[in-house]
Amino acid sequence: MKAENCAYCGDLTDMPFHCNYCKDPFCSEHRLPEEHRCVKLTQIRAKKFGERKVIRDQGIGKQSGFKKFFRRFKS
Ligand SMILES: [Zn+2]
Ligand SMILES: [Zn+2]
Repeated sequence: MKAENCAYCGDLTDMPFHCNYCKDPFCSEHRLPEEHRCVKLTQIRAKKFGERKVIRDQGIGKQSGFKKFFRRFKS
């Protein structure tokens, strides 16, 4: 295996780890998607929690914020 530079911090690594998601080489510190702000991280998270649930939660958050906004106007 040839040495490669970590795609996140640029350190030369003798045994680079390749991210399963973005396929870039990383040092041992940044091999996890969370550690190198993987471009696929949002997709990984969406898969983990279920896309529908995430969208629904966002909708609820917006609605309650809207209600608070109007309540402030009344009082
Ligand atoms: Zn690194
Ligand atoms: Zn990655």
